[in-house]
Amino acid sequence: MNSALRTVEEMPQARRSLGARLMERLEAFARHTDEAGRLIRLYLSPAHRRAADELMGWMRDAGLRATLDPIGNVVGRYEGQEPNAPALLIGSHIDTVRDAGRYDGNLGVLAGLACVEELARQGLRLPFAIEVVAFGDEEGVRFPSTLAGSRALAGTFDPATLAQRDCDGLSLEQALVGFGGDPARIGAVARRSEEVLAYIELHIEQGPVLEAGEAPVGVVTAISGATRLSAAVTGVAGHAGTVPMTLRADALAAAAEMILAIETRARSTPDLVATVGRIEARPGAVNVVPGETQFTIDIRSPVDAVREQAVDAIRTALETIAQRRGVSLALQREHEAPACLCDDRLVAALSASAARLGLTFLRLPSGAGHDAMVLGGLCPTGMLFVRCAGGISHNPAEAITAEDAEAAVRILLDFVMHLDPRTLSLKS
Ligand SMILES: [Zn+2]
Repeated sequence: MNSALRTVEEMPQARRSLGARLMERLEAFARHTDEAGRLIRLYLSPAHRRAADELMGWMRDAGLRATLDPIGNVVGRYEGQEPNAPALLIGSHIDTVRDAGRYDGNLGVLAGLACVEELARQGLRLPFAIEVVAFGDEEGVRFPSTLAGSRALAGTFDPATLAQRDCDGLSLEQALVGFGGDPARIGAVARRSEEVLAYIELHIEQGPVLEAGEAPVGVVTAISGATRLSAAVTGVAGHAGTVPMTLRADALAAAAEMILAIETRARSTPDLVATVGRIEARPGAVNVVPGETQFTIDIRSPVDAVREQAVDAIRTALETIAQRRGVSLALQREHEAPACLCDDRLVAALSASAARLGLTFLRLPSGAGHDAMVLGGLCPTGMLFVRCAGGISHNPAEAITAEDAEAAVRILLDFVMHLDPRTLSLKS
């Protein structure tokens, strides 16, 4: 075991540019697109299959046993010192949004592979196996549902999902068969918790916090829970010239005051965010007082109780505004997801690795959803964020630096090389 405890500083100088190599690979991987000229790689598409094939080739070159599982996940296993040891899963997704950047999802998968390649190159076997997992359905662009791959692995896949259709009328089941998956064997993808040590996901931050804090990496403490509401405000439509201001029940002016109240509530609470992302006013004419308004509210926090209190407070504030303005308000809950806490031991261990390497890091919650929140139901989960330029994501302008990519892979390496599989803490 002494060899496994060597620190990364002792690695040969010639191999110190893991980040540059990872960046080259991310660039090469981005050519797997369903549309020339921009990156679109939808779940179970031809580009997804080509990406999966190339990834499996890279995994096999590095000595991993690579397979495409029945739901379309790529899994590459690097055995530990003993065969069939429980596995540390390192993963993320390789599907993308339309006109995507090249780092969202792909970075976590290829960083996991880079980490295992380095272990293999040094001939190191650990007291646990490592499996690099590339989920295929995180973005939820093609079918109405999302996270099919991670749900199958966590044992929470709903078979009814197979009947969902894409915009061409093809069912998920048909697409999966065409891809080379096996709908009848999805149940076999589910892991037993004793087979899995933990799940680690490395991902770009997709926000501006690390950049603002001048930190290349962040250790994620929780994935925020979310509540989505739809609000319908009904007033009285009228002539914009003839109805005096004092006699109006303007649904849009009421909604405007409500939106500001939502913003005020969110600004007054740390780690709470609330967004009105869509609004519609009817009848929507320049010379008519709006009679109806509909808008959405998205409320997130890493602490469920904070989110629930905010939902209640916002409801009360909106009702008060509606009453005072003489409009009616209907609020409906459309979506509810609890927060997923990252495992304290993994947060501590990833932080310790970053600190030991002399890297500046922050601890922060993730406001965006990830495969990790599904895996959280199966095993202890940890996440590492990498700073991205301007916090921009889901956009071809998405960018990270080779130095930050290097820092992230170094942390992963230090973490796996020192992880005690019994305690999930680091051996000194
Ligand atoms: Zn992602």
